[in-house]
Amino acid sequence: MKTSNFISVAIDGGAGSGKSTTSKLLSKEMNYMHVDTGSHYRLLTHSFLYNGFELSDVEEVLELNKFNLNSIISGFSSRLVINDVEVPDTDLRTEKINLNVSRFASHPAVRSLLFDYQRSLVNFAKKKNFLGIVMEGRDIGSVILPDADLKLFLHAEEDVRTERRMADGQADSINMRDKLDSGRKNAPLMATPDSIKIDTGKNSIQDVFLLISELISNL
Ligand code: C5P
Repeated sequence: MKTSNFISVAIDGGAGSGKSTTSKLLSKEMNYMHVDTGSHYRLLTHSFLYNGFELSDVEEVLELNKFNLNSIISGFSSRLVINDVEVPDTDLRTEKINLNVSRFASHPAVRSLLFDYQRSLVNFAKKKNFLGIVMEGRDIGSVILPDADLKLFLHAEEDVRTERRMADGQADSINMRDKLDSGRKNAPLMATPDSIKIDTGKNSIQDVFLLISELISNL
């Protein structure tokens, strides 16, 4: 039984499965704070590569440097900022970041740096007077918000997902990323047994939204 009116929604799924489109619409329609955890991993990957570091340097770099993680709100979305340096979203969606992000995201020190921060965003959203939080990623229902009020796992056929990336103008090896993300030991991409699976290739975004709003109103 729920003990507060604040709603937490976990949305997981592979690359191009429709997580961002769905989460953004949901956050706007329901006044929930949207968190794209993929962008957190992209920002850390960018920060390492931009400073000339490789995966083998990660542990030492994180030990020797202070990474201050803060959130800024823009519209219904919260964005991660490291040490007050803002990086434009376009710089986080380059082919280079797409090619490297899954390797950095599999590093335990990178994941543990983000773990507390991502969890703290629930209280941050409450403080900012949002009515809920919708957090998208790979391990939200399994690791970050295991007690989420609603857990969704989005999927779609491979050709649908590839077409979406091409429409975004992004060069992205979605299969390679999904393989690395599902195969890693630490917080792999997975559908938890209590998550509701939605095919975003067979259902329009309006239908997906209607289904989710119905699920929320039945909580
Ligand atoms: O969602 P997006 O495709 O932008 O995520 C980029 C990458 O970040 C994923 O391929 C995955 O390696 C990593 N990621 C993760 N855990 C999350 C979200 C993203 O490992 N919760």
